[in-house]
Amino acid sequence: MAVTETNKENKKTKSKKTNFPYDMQKMMKGVKKRSIFSNIFFYIFLVFTIYLVIGFIGSFNSDSKQVPISDVVTMIQNDKVQDVTVSGDKIDVVLKDGSKVNTQKESGISFDQVLTNNNIDRSKVAGKINVVHNLTFDQVISPILMFVLPLVIIFFIFRQMKGANGDILSFGRSRAKVFNKDQSKTTFVDVAGIDEAKSEMMEIVDFLKNPQKYRKLGARIPKGVLLIGAAGVGKTLLAKAIAGEANVPFFSVAGSEFMEMLVGVGSSRVRDLFRMAREGQPSLIFIDEIDAIGRQRGMGIGGGHDEREQTLNQILIEMDGFDPRTDVIVLAATNRPDMLDPALVRPGRFDRRISIPMPDLKAREEIIRIHMRGKPVSEAINIELVARKTVGFSGADIENMLNEAAILAARQNKDIIEEADIEEAALKVTIGAERKTLQTEEERKVTAYHEAGHALVSAYVPDMDPLYRVSIVARGGTLGHTSIQPERDRYNETQTRLNSIISTMLGGRSAEAIVYNEFTVGASDDINKATGIARKMVTEYGMSSLGPIAYEAKETSFWLAKGFEENNQLSDEMAAKIDAEVHKIITTAYETAKDILVTHRDALDRISQQLMEKETLTADEFKALL
Ligand code: ADP
Ligand code: ZN
Repeated sequence: MAVTETNKENKKTKSKKTNFPYDMQKMMKGVKKRSIFSNIFFYIFLVFTIYLVIGFIGSFNSDSKQVPISDVVTMIQNDKVQDVTVSGDKIDVVLKDGSKVNTQKESGISFDQVLTNNNIDRSKVAGKINVVHNLTFDQVISPILMFVLPLVIIFFIFRQMKGANGDILSFGRSRAKVFNKDQSKTTFVDVAGIDEAKSEMMEIVDFLKNPQKYRKLGARIPKGVLLIGAAGVGKTLLAKAIAGEANVPFFSVAGSEFMEMLVGVGSSRVRDLFRMAREGQPSLIFIDEIDAIGRQRGMGIGGGHDEREQTLNQILIEMDGFDPRTDVIVLAATNRPDMLDPALVRPGRFDRRISIPMPDLKAREEIIRIHMRGKPVSEAINIELVARKTVGFSGADIENMLNEAAILAARQNKDIIEEADIEEAALKVTIGAERKTLQTEEERKVTAYHEAGHALVSAYVPDMDPLYRVSIVARGGTLGHTSIQPERDRYNETQTRLNSIISTMLGGRSAEAIVYNEFTVGASDDINKATGIARKMVTEYGMSSLGPIAYEAKETSFWLAKGFEENNQLSDEMAAKIDAEVHKIITTAYETAKDILVTHRDALDRISQQLMEKETLTADEFKALL
């Protein structure tokens, strides 16, 4: 009982805190609307005006009469002058009779020089000669014009570039706007095909719901989780669902949003984001497209990008600076984990990974069902068939397709969405991206045999790691994929293993040759990779009859100077020998693959048949078919 009580109280205080960023956001929006006050021009204008007024008042002196400087000189010569005050080029004179005059001297000449030029001694002035050094109108205004004007022009240009958005002019205030903090209503029910990662996500949800439980046992809480997957597979959706399940605030921002503004804004936005998340904790931060910030430093042409690096560093600082009682979890999404800076994925940072694959047949079916909810759909539609046809569609594509279908149906004044609408909508989505294909059965069959070929060869070549998954779900530029998971970390490779890997890579092409006696271009990537390994075996690893000699590869690094490259080129004769050795390795491996497939032809047929049906086979399902 006592525990529950504490929890309740905790929740209360926290929910109070939670409101703070919310309100601030609203306030910020309000401020932005009265844009003239948040507009930097307004302040510049104000300062300018104040200076003008001060300057004007300063030069206006009611009881002082302006006279030519020659008059003043005469007055001094005639011993009429009591005090002189010089400020800038303006000279105020108090006469012995108490009256005042003022005059203007030539700029660039000091008052002393004026005296000397007229052969007057300083003692001719009865009182003091004050030289006032405070800034005069001219001294203030001209630097302002010189420095501020170009800045103003630059701001204008920036604003022009940013279109009507104009954020740059008020970035100091509108930062909070970037973070979309919703109390997410999305839950796991809205996300299909995430079963594999579900237990890991449940753990995060449970932690966010009840951090004390973990803390009491001294468990180290994850800080950063990397969601890996192609565009549109539901990474954002999943992050929202986690927040929704845990019922915690959700702060989301895209990596690119940190980068589009002025230098220094990125890191201060990061600081802001984390501050808000801490104030609303327990909470979830979601950084989409983290590769926009977290790209490996020094990668790419043009070297490091300072702004990006600062932003990245700030994220690392914030994450390292979490004290153990901070209940903030940072989720980050990327489709290029290989591109990320190693510093980001170090322990204590984004050290957990959740992969979200493209949806397979079953997942697509679920996604279709999810997005058909609330849409009147014809009973006649065979959802499984739609799923089958939409190979290579991401969750976002499917959502898009069903939305298009609804629009098409509405345009024809129909009450329900029919199969034809979905067909047409699917075509529309397909045209949008070439790789998404409405595959024919025949095409799927070729792909199935190709992938089955890889899988089967991998099972029978020596020293090969076990198969992890084989699939004919298109992803990236490929129609299918076969993943093999290393049993353990490998720090070295043997010649036997390299040959096995090459055989496995060529297994796809072998299957095409055996079953269809026809080749597809789909194997080009396999061939490329296999050749690459074979070439390294000859030129770097000394695994050929050419002996343990390192032969410089012909293609030198892009960065090296031309001259360097030429010095290291091989003789034509040597290059030909290397090619011959590579050829030998490849043909041997290819023959091995073919032998295996011919021997186990029945298994090949079984596997491809199952792939046609299920699209993806797990390790166990695959083993059962052998
Ligand atoms: P990502 O962040 O990976 O690019 P999103 O989460 O933005 O993808 O997905 C966009 C939309 O596509 C989602 O709002 C949802 O409607 C739909 N969607 C994507 N994946 C799924 C899924 N697995 N289950 C249900 N809907 C999905
Ligand atoms: Zn292949």
